[in-house]
Amino acid sequence: MSSKLAINGGVPVRKEALPGAYPGASVYGQEEIDAITEVIKRKSPFRYYGVDVAGKAEEFEGRVCERLGRKFALASSSGTSALIIALVAAGIGSGDKVIIPANTFYATAGAVIAAGAVPVYCDIDDSMNLDPTKIEALIDEDVKALVVVPILGNSCDMDPIMEICSRRKITLIEDNAQSWGSTYKGKPCGSFGAFATYSLQLNKMITAGEGGVVVTDRPEYIERATRFHDQGTFRKKQKYEETKNQPDQVLAGQNYRLSEVAGAIACEQIKKLDMIIENLRRVKQTIKNGIQPTLEAKGVTFRRITDADGDVSNTIMMYMPSPEKAVAFRNAMLAENINCTHLYDRKTIYAAPSLLEKKPADKNGFPFNQFTGAKAVHYEMGMCPKAEDLLSRNVMIPLAPVFTEKDCQDVIEGVLKVAEEIL
Ligand SMILES: *Cc1c(COP(=O)(O)O)cnc(C)c1O
Repeated sequence: MSSKLAINGGVPVRKEALPGAYPGASVYGQEEIDAITEVIKRKSPFRYYGVDVAGKAEEFEGRVCERLGRKFALASSSGTSALIIALVAAGIGSGDKVIIPANTFYATAGAVIAAGAVPVYCDIDDSMNLDPTKIEALIDEDVKALVVVPILGNSCDMDPIMEICSRRKITLIEDNAQSWGSTYKGKPCGSFGAFATYSLQLNKMITAGEGGVVVTDRPEYIERATRFHDQGTFRKKQKYEETKNQPDQVLAGQNYRLSEVAGAIACEQIKKLDMIIENLRRVKQTIKNGIQPTLEAKGVTFRRITDADGDVSNTIMMYMPSPEKAVAFRNAMLAENINCTHLYDRKTIYAAPSLLEKKPADKNGFPFNQFTGAKAVHYEMGMCPKAEDLLSRNVMIPLAPVFTEKDCQDVIEGVLKVAEEIL
């Protein structure tokens, strides 16, 4: 039943685009409207004082702690600032190196650089996440932290990663921006590291447009984090009994606070997270069942899922037989009006000229200028070959919890039609 591809002038599978694959925003409703309306009616958009503060940012922190089983959470202005806060609170900064995966968003590397440390890139495996067997070779005396990034809701293999971090005394930070709700062996992602961070940007599982959160269990960490994110102040000191015995942690801070308006939306979104995941799983299963045998027969492989029970299923990620086929497949899918994209433009994070050529914002080249001579850090294409290969061949179909049965069937029809011609 081969039919002419839309890219070659045929009739597209769909007349209209699929619903936008923004999981959290796609289920915005009266709840979010009521929550922000309350903030506006109280005339109190700032979390720490105002006419009649509703306490939405704080409520959100409480919900995050409960969900992840962590002691402390701090809402922040973005996922990027949450990462910077975590690194600074952990005492990571000048003179330090931080291992990050070769496959991640700019923010992971940018946060390390903003904290004054230098990124070291680790190769990935078929899961698209950092390969635990590649970590140890990268560790030297300057490596003080490791940031794991579960890509698109697929958990990292935490057992070996935690073993290495504890044995080599390296601080583990989970950048879970893309993985609200993911679990590993029954435990929430975000419950493993000294810190975990999340984002509320539009592409993430839940969204307030902008926003983030950092979680940790140690009172001295949350105090440093809070001070750094709020001009050096710690307005709630009396509430954390344990911190009374800590030495004063005075430091010069920034403003990385979350507004009450974003906090109000975030509270409603986190209540919907389980519903979002349940629907995404149904959508992913339906589509995958319809396309997997045909695609595998044509040499396509599906990304390995580390823990199927803990995958939040926001994407179907595939590796095409060649980079050329990946590009052709995607373009043909778009012509059929079925959203399909390449993660990170098919490139590793370090392929970005700013990172490959070590171009920070600082006029003297800080933080890269700290490592010179025998200690100089070298970046070059080819340094993480598996990541370069997998990314070059990746094609993904982003999913939304609001996809109907008809939407799912259209995706299947489009994939099979395109596969027939392109693969
Ligand atoms: C989105 C994202 C971030 C940054 O989040 P923002 O809220 O956009 O600052 C950090 N890390 C990863 C892996 C992300 O996907």
